[in-house]
Amino acid sequence: MLKLYRFLKQYSLYIAVIIVFLFAQVLSDLYLPTLMADIVDKGLANQDINYILKIGGFMLLIAAGGTLCAIMATYLSSKTAVGFGKILREKIFAKVESFSLHEFDKFGTATLITRTTNDVTQIQQVSVLILSMMITAPLTCIGGVIMALQQDRSLAWVLVVTIPILFLVIGMTLKRGLPLFKVMQEKIDKLNLVLREKLTGIRVVRAFNRIEKERVRFDDANADLMDNAVKVNIIMAVLMPAMMLIMNLTTVALVWFGALRIEDGSMQIGSLLAFIQYATQILFSLLMLVMLFIMVPRAQVSAVRINEVLEANLDIIDPEKSNTANNEGGFVEFKEVSFRYPGADQPALNKITFSAKPGELTAIIGGTGSGKSTLVNLITRFYDVENGSVLVDGVDVREMSQKALRAKIGFVPQKTVLFSGTIAENIKYGKENATMEELEQAARVAQATEFVSGLEAGFDHHIAQGGTNVSGGQKQRLSIARALIRKPEIYIFDDSFSALDFKTSAKLRAALKPEVLDATVFIIAQSVSTVRDADRIIVLDDGQISGMGTHKELLNTCKVYREIVASQLSEEELA
Ligand code: ADP
Ligand code: MG
Repeated sequence: MLKLYRFLKQYSLYIAVIIVFLFAQVLSDLYLPTLMADIVDKGLANQDINYILKIGGFMLLIAAGGTLCAIMATYLSSKTAVGFGKILREKIFAKVESFSLHEFDKFGTATLITRTTNDVTQIQQVSVLILSMMITAPLTCIGGVIMALQQDRSLAWVLVVTIPILFLVIGMTLKRGLPLFKVMQEKIDKLNLVLREKLTGIRVVRAFNRIEKERVRFDDANADLMDNAVKVNIIMAVLMPAMMLIMNLTTVALVWFGALRIEDGSMQIGSLLAFIQYATQILFSLLMLVMLFIMVPRAQVSAVRINEVLEANLDIIDPEKSNTANNEGGFVEFKEVSFRYPGADQPALNKITFSAKPGELTAIIGGTGSGKSTLVNLITRFYDVENGSVLVDGVDVREMSQKALRAKIGFVPQKTVLFSGTIAENIKYGKENATMEELEQAARVAQATEFVSGLEAGFDHHIAQGGTNVSGGQKQRLSIARALIRKPEIYIFDDSFSALDFKTSAKLRAALKPEVLDATVFIIAQSVSTVRDADRIIVLDDGQISGMGTHKELLNTCKVYREIVASQLSEEELA
């Protein structure tokens, strides 16, 4: 947790002020019982009204001052803690944004969300406690002992007996409670995971009639969390009365033995009253410390989880001195590229070598799982190669800044992603300052104009979260328009025409051609009709290039390609 507190630098002034306020508050709290003892022993005993009024007024003043300080301290510490939470969330979000797909695979989305929200809230709550109690509790405890001893030394043994008992109770509680506190976050993680899967997969859940099963899975996670929380709360529920019992017994003992001392004239009533108050303050401050001891380990778990994210080693980082590419306008070259997903024993790509010039259309065809998406993901540097190198405009992508590299690329991923917002906003995601003409042009080429103008709000039509209120084909077209509006040097269409009907797909490709004349274009496709006009067709099979050339050349040279063509021809003939 200490590691996280380095982010509190900009609040150091606040913290200094908080400490001053808390100091003042504790001093006023410690002074009040002594004044009260004076009123009882000197004022009341001598029937001195003036003295009572004078000291009483003074007490009011001190109490008011103490309260004011307490309010200010609470206000400032809340502000600091909330600001701290905000900083933490910013840091986590920024870090997660720089994650490569490796790290996303490693952590998982559910836990990243919990870490950014719930874990930060834990830290935030504990920070308020720490900010207020770290100062007050020890100070009250020590100050209380000193002040109590000034009232009467011989009653101190009562405290010497009670405090160890108190610590014993606390120790036993902590021993049982701490493990439970620590697993709390994991249980919340689990709940989030189940809930997230259930909500994002709701269609599949319904279609396969798994509602009941999913409910049970959720109930299990939910009940698990509840069990743990109940256990934690039982312990807390027992702790509180136990502490109160100890405190009250202490008071009884003090009254008992104090009365004996008052009777033999060696102590005054006011002193006893003050002593009892100090004893309460001391025990209470110890209780506060215990609360801290309980809360801190739980927050510690959260802190570790946050630190894991903040300190995750990034696979893909910008080089210290980035190499700017020559002005070749999108020349892509693969040299003996091999790549393996972490933990996989088979390479997903094996010794891939080819080059694609601006103005050329490269098509990639091959069965599912043959490595097509993996290949284009290396051009965008979503992953780093294991061997060989990927060059864009003559420069290894690892030597370029990611920003410069991706500015060259218009990418249409296989899994279409739209964001909640209007259609226009979604297309302009590719180019923020695009004009209306550019927007319309991109939509026209992507064959989206027809369905967009059919909508009442047109380009202002609202897309729901995850793009669930448009069809798969419409999503694909918007996602293509988003890439087109960038006018990049390299276009990558990863199976982007799969949800389009044959006619729309053909129209789109025809409209695309004049748009991408000077660009390097990669099209991944399943159907031969989409790839047959390409300048170069790469046939992938099990991560290897099993043939490369034009449609005609491949028909003669590549057996895998011939099989693909044959299977599709017969299908079309059969249809
Ligand atoms: P294609 O796009 O040709 O259908 P991919 O490039 O997506 O195939 O996948 C190639 C191989 O890599 C497959 O065997 C797949 O199981 C594996 N793979 C794909 N993505 C990942 C990933 N994130 N982690 C581990 N293995 C993966
Ligand atoms: Mg794919």
